[in-house]
Amino acid sequence: MPSEFDLIQRYFKRPVTGVLLGIGDDAAIIAPKAGKELAISTDCLVAGQHFFENTDPYKLGYKALAVNLSDMAAMGATPRWVTLSLTLPRSLIGFHESWLDEFSRGFHELAATHQIALIGGDTTAGPMNICVQIIGEVNQGQWLRRSGAKPGDDIWVSGCLGDAALALKHQLGELVLTDEEAAYCLSALDMPSARVALGQRLIELAHSAIDISDGLMADLGHILSCSAQSATVELETVPGSEIMKRYLPSPLAVECLMTGGDDYELCFTASKENQSVIRQLGQELRVPLTIVGEIKPQKTLKPELIIYGSKGEKIVLEKKGYDHFAS
Ligand code: ADP
Ligand code: MG
Repeated sequence: MPSEFDLIQRYFKRPVTGVLLGIGDDAAIIAPKAGKELAISTDCLVAGQHFFENTDPYKLGYKALAVNLSDMAAMGATPRWVTLSLTLPRSLIGFHESWLDEFSRGFHELAATHQIALIGGDTTAGPMNICVQIIGEVNQGQWLRRSGAKPGDDIWVSGCLGDAALALKHQLGELVLTDEEAAYCLSALDMPSARVALGQRLIELAHSAIDISDGLMADLGHILSCSAQSATVELETVPGSEIMKRYLPSPLAVECLMTGGDDYELCFTASKENQSVIRQLGQELRVPLTIVGEIKPQKTLKPELIIYGSKGEKIVLEKKGYDHFAS
């Protein structure tokens, strides 16, 4: 079994730039550029909770970073540095070094794409848990937040929603996808594309933003409560992939579309005046951007989120979204 030191050297230490002191000391030292502020976020993936322990390690390494990039995207930040805290079962380290080869390859490949430096972490043995902390930069005072939605704002969503949730239902045996459908949806589940470039460009254009990790209803709900506003959403306009459309309007597909987790798309609100600029931005970045509803003044004690069907009927969804603490 490699020592902890060997393991870090072999799998995680890579030449990095933009760091004063990287892996190998008691702490890393970084220097943000003058005039910048730091955006810091952590996301942990827990085996059995966020992924199956037998998930392809390359995809797991990729996803552990991608979900953190998505938080940077939601803030409009430029991701710069990450730390990685790994708790791995001994069996995995001792007998399956190829697991670490593949995990670190998935992680480093995505880090290289975004020019992010891995600057430290922790490595321990125990029940599998992958925890990434990410640090990004924003220009002074220039970031996105959940709290700025205004009545009359359009509610926008990037990409297509619900494919990852379809894949999960397939894996759990609650839905049978064809091989071709499963391959497509599993790639949405395993290798989400964080909308980092989009987030940065929205700083000038959006009043509020969030990344959709727990389902559109739950995450739009966070925008509403942080902004003290209500909203209406037109179910028909919520973007689904060609595969999702084959399963709509079955209740299971609607549930995946509206409340399924793991989309890692952005939901943001912006003034109607910005509609055409935002459409152009979507074309430039080749990211589908769709208006799904409108922010309304909050007239009740709590924000209201009303979903309308194609005939103007109100739709009540049973599940609001993923909640780790709900029984
Ligand atoms: P300490 O015992 O002082 O906390 P460690 O022996 O845990 O230090 O770690 C040694 C160095 O390796 C530190 O710089 C730490 O940040 C880095 N490191 C440990 N685990 C990882 C990992 N999984 N990925 C990247 N760097 C790591
Ligand atoms: Mg130390």
